[in-house]
Amino acid sequence: MALMRTMLLAASQNVWLRERAIKYPFVKRSVSRFMPGETLEDALAAAQSLRQLGVGSVFTHLGENVADRHAASQVTEHYLQVLDRIHQSELGAGLSVKLTQLGLDLSPDFCAENLEQIISRENKESTVWVDMEASNYVDVTLDIYKRALKRHPNLGICLQSYLYRTKKDLADLLPLRPTIRLVKGAYKEPADVAFPKKADVDANYFALAQELLRAKAAGQCPRAAFGTHDTALIGRLASLVRKESYASSDFEVQMLYGIQRAEQERLAREGHRSVVLVAYGTYWYPWFVRRLAERPANLWFMLRNVFAS
Ligand SMILES: Cc1cc2nc3c(=O)[nH]c(=O)nc-3n(C[C@H](O)[C@H](O)[C@H](O)COP(=O)(O)OP(=O)(O)OC[C@H]3O[C@@H](n4cnc5c(N)ncnc54)[C@H](O)[C@@H]3O)c2cc1C
Repeated sequence: MALMRTMLLAASQNVWLRERAIKYPFVKRSVSRFMPGETLEDALAAAQSLRQLGVGSVFTHLGENVADRHAASQVTEHYLQVLDRIHQSELGAGLSVKLTQLGLDLSPDFCAENLEQIISRENKESTVWVDMEASNYVDVTLDIYKRALKRHPNLGICLQSYLYRTKKDLADLLPLRPTIRLVKGAYKEPADVAFPKKADVDANYFALAQELLRAKAAGQCPRAAFGTHDTALIGRLASLVRKESYASSDFEVQMLYGIQRAEQERLAREGHRSVVLVAYGTYWYPWFVRRLAERPANLWFMLRNVFAS
């Protein structure tokens, strides 16, 4: 399994494979399990359906490592229009953005300006989340986040439990009253920066989640979200929430579109905050292959699609 994950994560960065894979109809059919479609309209329609079930949405326009300023500015402009559409529709949805899509590789200041434009357009009661990418981006991402958080308390950041450093990053962030989404981590990382064993990643997740819940109860963290599909882990956290008498609505779980749908609805029915990250756009290859790496059984699902009509 670990070898398969490593191979798939390497494949997610391979340009040769990307150029070919995206042309195959069976690959496109497989992608549709994880995203409602390539357009913003598809994402908005999915969010409307989720809302009927009491499940909230966060939109992300797929793309990363943008290589020129014009493209990064176009992405920024797109997100500004998305926010206008969300506000008109009264969906109450949020956004999740990747800093490398906003020009981080070109210039951190330029990227920070793009992020500033987006968060300035957002309503104060909704969150714009900053995704966490590969470990070489963590320092600069946290730096941009901390600077923007001073002006925008509704800016959220993602932290990854597979990194050794995250415990300290969380401790450094808490005095700033951050909004945090905790995930396990989706990139290929070396053993000197990330726990190689999944059991250690999971244990660190639970330890960090406990700290986050405590910080939220103490008013140090306005919004704490657990980005995971791990139902055993969610169960342990829900028990903790009950034991410590935190409000059910204070327990927020975020999942990806199309994964653990029944669990998303169950959490909403039980009064928890259940939110789905709805991805759309045409640049889905690396994102999709990271989803395969998270659960190599998805490969069989994709291969079955080779024979589907
Ligand atoms: C809302 C959200 C935002 C995220 N943002 C980031 C980010 O900014 N940076 C980052 O590095 N990572 C991000 N991730 C991805 C995350 O790091 C993990 O790679 C991913 O969530 C899988 O880990 P898991 O916690 O679900 O647990 P796992 O232990 O990997 O999975 C638990 C169970 O969930 C199910 N499952 C998990 N993944 C899949 C899948 N792809 N297909 C089908 N079933 C699956 C399986 O049943 C599996 O047994 C995000 C995830 C979510 C949900």
